[in-house]
Amino acid sequence: CFCELKGNVDECECSVDLVDKFNNYRVYPRLKSLLSKNYFRFFKVNLRKPCPFWPDDGGCASSACAVESCTEANVPQEIFQNIKNKSNIFGPVNNPKLSSESLDAGKCNEGSDEELGYLNTTLTKEMSADLALWKLHDDSQHSFCDVDDDNNNDSVFVDLLLNPERYTGYKGSSAQRIWKTIYEENCFKPKRGYGPYIDSTNVGDLCLEKRAFYRAISGLHASINIHLCAQYLHSHGVPGLQRWGLNVEEFQARFDPDRTHGEGPKWLRNLYFLYLLELRAIAKAAPYLEQLPFYTGNETEDAEVNIAVHDLLNQIKSFQPHFNESSMFTGGSKQARKLKEEFRHHFRNITRIMDCVGCDKCKVWGKLQTQGLGTALKILFSGSFDKANPTAFDLKSMKRSRFQLTRNEIVALFNAFGRLSNSVYSLELFQQAALN
Ligand code: FAD
Repeated sequence: CFCELKGNVDECECSVDLVDKFNNYRVYPRLKSLLSKNYFRFFKVNLRKPCPFWPDDGGCASSACAVESCTEANVPQEIFQNIKNKSNIFGPVNNPKLSSESLDAGKCNEGSDEELGYLNTTLTKEMSADLALWKLHDDSQHSFCDVDDDNNNDSVFVDLLLNPERYTGYKGSSAQRIWKTIYEENCFKPKRGYGPYIDSTNVGDLCLEKRAFYRAISGLHASINIHLCAQYLHSHGVPGLQRWGLNVEEFQARFDPDRTHGEGPKWLRNLYFLYLLELRAIAKAAPYLEQLPFYTGNETEDAEVNIAVHDLLNQIKSFQPHFNESSMFTGGSKQARKLKEEFRHHFRNITRIMDCVGCDKCKVWGKLQTQGLGTALKILFSGSFDKANPTAFDLKSMKRSRFQLTRNEIVALFNAFGRLSNSVYSLELFQQAALN
C-alpha cells in the first residue's frame, strides 16, 4: 500500500498492479514518443554553477560523465530565440525568417561518442534583458526550485535524447555526500536515525507533509538508480564486448530486501508514490497545459505535438487521482504556513545541491528531475492551479499575469514524469528477466 495521502501515508486505495497497467500500456508509449519531439528534447541548464555548500571535490573522471558541446545551429531557432522573449510558450516571435531555419534543427552532435553518450550542449548568445521578466516569477514566492539563470553565458542547451540517463560510474564519496546531505540535512530527519541515512520505519514518526517529502526524494533516488541498472554498461573497457542493457544483478543488489535490510521494496514503493504525485500535478495543470501551443516553428511537428499532448493529458485525466494534495498544509493556520515555507526551503536547497554533483551527465538529469518535481510542487501547492474551472486558465489572462510556467519548467515536468514512467516500465523488464 502506498497511494493515498491521508493521516497515515501507508493507507492505500489503489494497487501497484493498477499503476503498472495504466503506466505501461497507456502512459509510457505516449510519453516516449512525445519526449522525442524537439519541443521536449532541449533542456537549458547551467553546469558551471559553483557548489554553494562545499569546495569542488573534483567529481567524476569517467568519460561517461563528460560534457561535449554542440553548436547553436542544432537547437531549433524558435526555441533558442523564444527563450530571449517571453513569448516562449505562447507562440512565435515576430520573425518569419526563423520558422524556416528551424526545420533542420534538432540533431546535435551526431558524431558524439556513441558508447558513453557524451553530453551535448551548445553555448548560448547573450540573452536579452526581457528574460528578467521571466525570472521574476521563477524567483517568486511560488517557486520550489533554485532555477538556473538562462541569461547566464554558462547556461547551455542539452539534447536529452543524445544524453540518456544511464550508468555513468559516478559513485564513491562524491555521490554519497550528495545523497547523505539531501537526506540528513534536508529531509526533515526523523529523531531516531538508523543506518547510513534514514530507516524508513522512522519516517512514520514524522508528520504527513514531512513523510511525503521524504518519500518523494526517496522515490527520485530509486528512479535514478533503476535507470543506471536498466541502462548499464556491461564489460566496461573490454573492446568489442561493451554493450548497454539491463543488469539484473545490480538491480537486486540495490533493491532486494535481504540485501537492503528490508528497505529496497519500500524505496520502490516510494517511486510509485512520486509517480502518483507528479501524475496528479500534471492532471491538475491539464487545463493550462492544453492551451499551450508548444511552439518550435515547425508547423507540422507543432501540430503533432499538440495532438499528442492532448491525447496524453486525456489519459492522465482519466486515471482517478490518488494523491490528495488538499490534505497537506491544511487549516490555513500560521503553523501550516510555516510548515509549507519550510517545505519549500528544504526543496530549494535540494535543487541547489544539484550544483555539487560531480558528474555532469548525472547533474543534467538530477537538475532536470528536481526542477520537474519542483514544478509539480508549485502546481500542487501554489494555489494558482486550484480553480477547477478550466476557463480560469484563459490564455490571455495567463499572459497578463506573472504566473506562468516557463518552457524549461514544462520540459522538466514532462521529462521528469517520463523518467518515473520509464522506471515503472523497467520494473516489469527486471521482473521478466529475473524469471527467465
Ligand atoms: P547510493 O545510491 O549512493 O545510496 C546511498 C545510500 O542511500 C544507500 O546505501 C542506502 O542506504 C540509501 N538509499 C539508497 N536508495 C535509496 C532510496 N531510494 N531511498 C532512500 N534511501 C536510499 N549514477 C549513474 O550511474 N548514472 C546516473 O545518471 C546517476 N545520476 C545521479 C544523480 C544524482 C543527483 C546523484 C546524487 C547520484 C547519481 N548517480 C548516478 C549515482 C548513483 O545514484 C549512486 O549514488 C551510485 O551508483 C552509488 O550507489 P551506492 O550503492 O553507493 O548507493
